[in-house]
Amino acid sequence: MILGHPVAHSLSPVFQGAALQRAGMSTSYVREDVAPERLVETLARLASEGAGGNITLPHKEAAAALITRCTPVARDVGAVNTFWAEDGALVGHNTDVDGATATIRALLPGGPDDAQQQPVVLFGAGGSAAAVMVALRDLGYRKITLVTRTMARAQALSVRLAIPATVMASESRDEAVADAALVVNATPLGLHDNAFPVAVASLPARCAVFDLVYRPGLTPWIAACRLAGMRAEDGLRMLIEQGAAAFEAWFDVPAPREAMWQSLDAAPPAYDQR
Ligand code: NAP
Repeated sequence: MILGHPVAHSLSPVFQGAALQRAGMSTSYVREDVAPERLVETLARLASEGAGGNITLPHKEAAAALITRCTPVARDVGAVNTFWAEDGALVGHNTDVDGATATIRALLPGGPDDAQQQPVVLFGAGGSAAAVMVALRDLGYRKITLVTRTMARAQALSVRLAIPATVMASESRDEAVADAALVVNATPLGLHDNAFPVAVASLPARCAVFDLVYRPGLTPWIAACRLAGMRAEDGLRMLIEQGAAAFEAWFDVPAPREAMWQSLDAAPPAYDQR
């Protein structure tokens, strides 16, 4: 199941349903719309039922505060997107970090020695930016710049996660990306409009681009970056990979990723070696 408010738009039932079917499991995966004031009672009920599932907006941070048994990564990020029951209590976990890690690895396949030297610029300082920051830290990235319109929020995020980062204002976005090896958008820009976090012309020609936003087709920013010849991905791989990591946490078997991608009529982008 997936808990959210609203939750009708969630694609998780589509690809988790396909994964369960491919794995030959009879478990069902459903949406449950939970208003914020019902979150406490809902989590208590799910613990008593021994249920497992996902949690999406706006409950991820609240769930991390309510679920006392959280995995270290969920504690680090301060958000729960995956849970299961053990001994009558819920365990909270975060697989958004796995989703971000898989996407960054696909875009920049070098190891930690390369990562250490590669400047990364991250737009946004909200819940998903926290997951990206933890993924970057664990992959070995050390030169992180946060670009936000609310600088205090970005500074607080860096301090809370204990991940050093340079913080720059949105007005300095062109300057911030000038030598970036990877640029990541963790704001809603491009979700309901055609706005770009930063102009494609400002990006270095060989930088990789990761937009957490996804929508039918590509986001306009990612389409423009690809047209300019850059390695660029929207948030679909992150979405599928967070779901695959959740599936593996629940069932302890490899997730049928191919079926998950197929259920969305999509395929993971592949890149030439260079
Ligand atoms: P959030 O917690 O609300 O944070 C949003 C961040 O974006 C904040 O730093 C906010 O700045 C900034 N922002 C909002 N509107 C902006 C604008 N018009 N211009 C510049 N900055 C703006 O949201 P979130 O949970 O991090 O999610 C961000 C986006 O990531 C979502 O819209 C979703 O599309 C995407 N997402 C994708 C996945 C995936 O699996 N692919 C997973 C999670 C999220 P302020 O602090 O100034 O308000």
